[in-house]
Amino acid sequence: MALDLVLRNALIAGRDGAACDIGVAGGLIADIAPTIAADVPVEDIGGRLVIAGFVDTHIHLDKSCILDRCKAGEGTLAEAIAQVAAAKRAFTEDDVYARGRRTLEKAIVQGTTRMRTHVEVDPRIGLTSFNAITRLKRDYAWAIDLEICVFPQEGLLNDPGTEELLIAACEAGADLIGGCPYTDRDPNGQIARIFAIARRFDIDIDFHLDFDLDASWMHLDEVCRQTKAQGYGGRVAVGHVTKLSALPPTAFQETARRLTDAGVAVTVLPATDLFLMGRAHDHDIPRGVTHAHRLAGHGVTCSLATNNVLNPFTPYGDCSLVRMANLYANIAQAGAPSELATCFELVTTQAARLMNLNDYGIAVGNPADLVVLDSGDRAMAIAELAQPLLGFKRGRHSFTRAAPVLHRPIG
Ligand SMILES: [Zn+2]
Repeated sequence: MALDLVLRNALIAGRDGAACDIGVAGGLIADIAPTIAADVPVEDIGGRLVIAGFVDTHIHLDKSCILDRCKAGEGTLAEAIAQVAAAKRAFTEDDVYARGRRTLEKAIVQGTTRMRTHVEVDPRIGLTSFNAITRLKRDYAWAIDLEICVFPQEGLLNDPGTEELLIAACEAGADLIGGCPYTDRDPNGQIARIFAIARRFDIDIDFHLDFDLDASWMHLDEVCRQTKAQGYGGRVAVGHVTKLSALPPTAFQETARRLTDAGVAVTVLPATDLFLMGRAHDHDIPRGVTHAHRLAGHGVTCSLATNNVLNPFTPYGDCSLVRMANLYANIAQAGAPSELATCFELVTTQAARLMNLNDYGIAVGNPADLVVLDSGDRAMAIAELAQPLLGFKRGRHSFTRAAPVLHRPIG
C-alpha cells in the first residue's frame, strides 16, 4: 500500500529497542520498521516517545467551566452536587456545547485521542446536555473519539422520569450507561436498574461508587455480585472508590482479588478525590486517593482520569493526563521507575483496556493515532511532566505544541 506519511526515529512506548520508523496509509498504521524509505512527507521526531494518545476514561464535559456560576465554600461532595444541580437548571444546549468545546480542545492539545465523558440526564435537564455532547462528539471526531456515558447524578429511583430519559438517550445513541448509587434512596435498586438497561441495549456500565472514607460498608459488594450474576465481567468500571484508600493492606488485597474475580475495573480520579475527601478533618487530613497502581499490581484493570474541570467538584483543570499521573504518583508516593511506568500505563494502555478499545496502540492495522511526547522514557515522562509536541488522529495532523526556546544573550 502506498504510504501517506512516515514518522522517523520514533521510540514506541512500552517496546524495547532502538528508534524506528512508522508508516501511515489510509489513516492506519501500515508499517513499523527500522527504516522506511518512501517518497512521502516525513516527520523526524528525533528519538522521542510515540504513543497512541492518552485515554481519558472519565470526564464530565457537560458541567465543566461553571466556577463563575457556583460557590465551592465548604468543598464537600454534598455542596458540589447541590451547586451543580442549581446551575444545571440554566444550562442550554449552546451553553453546554460551548463549555464542553473549551474543555475538549484543551484535552486534544494535551495529547488525548480517546475519551469517555459522563453526561447527566434527569427530568430538569432532560436530554439538553446529551444533545450538546452528541454534537461535540460528531464535530470533533477529526481529533478525538468521544464515548458518551449517560447517568443519573441526582438519583434514579427517587427521581421519577429519569429512567425513561436514560432509555431515550440510549435509543438516541449513548455509548454506555452509568450510575451513582450513593445519591439514590435505594442504592441496590439503582444498581439493578442500571444493569437491566445495560443488558437491554448491550452496552457497558461505568458507576460512580463508594465516594467517602468509611470502609465499613461498600456498594462495591453489590456491583461485583451483579457483575458476576449478569455475566458482565470485563464490561463494568467503577470510579472514585475512595473507600478503598481507607482499607488496611490485607483487606485491600482481598478487595483487589474480588475485583479481578468479578471483572470490575477501577478509575481513580486524583484531583477530585483530593479536593473533596477528608473535609471532616481540620488537621492530618487523609489523602483519600485509592492506590490504582497497587490495584493494577494485583491484576485489576485500572485508570487515572480527569473527572471534573473548573467546577465545585474540582476547581482546577488543564485536561493533562501527564499532570494527573504525576499528581497521582506524588500522592501515592510512587517514585520507583517501575511504579512511574505503571502510572504511565494507567493513562494509556490500561485506560484503553478499561474502555475495551481493541484497536488502541502502536501496531500495524490500528488507527494511526500518534502523539509525540518530549521524552524518551515512560517513567521520566511522568516524573518530568513531558509535554506532547504534536499529534495525528487517523493519520491526519491534529495539533502542534511548540517546544520551548531559550533566547540566550549574544556574545
Ligand atoms: Zn465523575
